[in-house]
Amino acid sequence: MNKELNTQEKNILLDSIRDVPDFPKPGIIFKDITPLLGSPEAFNTLMDHLTNRYLGLELDFIAGIDARGFIFGSILADRLGVGFVPIRKKGKLPYTTVAEKYSLEYGFDEVEIHIDAFGKDGAKVVLIDDLIATGGTAKAAYELIEKVGAKCVECCFVIELEFLNGREKFKGKEVYSVIKF
Ligand code: AMP
Repeated sequence: MNKELNTQEKNILLDSIRDVPDFPKPGIIFKDITPLLGSPEAFNTLMDHLTNRYLGLELDFIAGIDARGFIFGSILADRLGVGFVPIRKKGKLPYTTVAEKYSLEYGFDEVEIHIDAFGKDGAKVVLIDDLIATGGTAKAAYELIEKVGAKCVECCFVIELEFLNGREKFKGKEVYSVIKF
């Protein structure tokens, strides 16, 4: 599980992440991953890296967070030969769900998972999203995985905004990020 990116691979990824200032509101620098998705070289570098990291862990599922976590998560699941589970914003999943609230700057948001998403108790899961900022979204998603009886063995992010200390919400748990800012 300790395969590191080499400098060349890291630079390919860094060059494919675009800063968009003041989106979606003034003062936020949005990390835009669409250039990464649009570059076969960068996308493949990332997916090879994640596949190597999780191959051999004998995972049962990858869980991805709505919506950019679906892109990376579903490809990773397919490459590993395991199932993919979507964790969605409230009101999107059709069957019986379990929900978890988390706080935003103003107010609350909510994510949901299907109650039978993992089929059996104790399934080994890696949670993935594009980015961890304050960690609120990912922590709620982590709680959902555990609430429905699975074991989240690692939370994985393509990008970590270290200055927002999202990692602190995951004390004692495994957190991995590919690129740190
Ligand atoms: P948080 O719950 O604060 O960790 O926010 C994480 C979620 O918000 C992720 O799903 C990200 O896609 C999105 N997000 C937050 N901040 C940014 C940012 N600066 N650039 C891109 N996406 C962001």
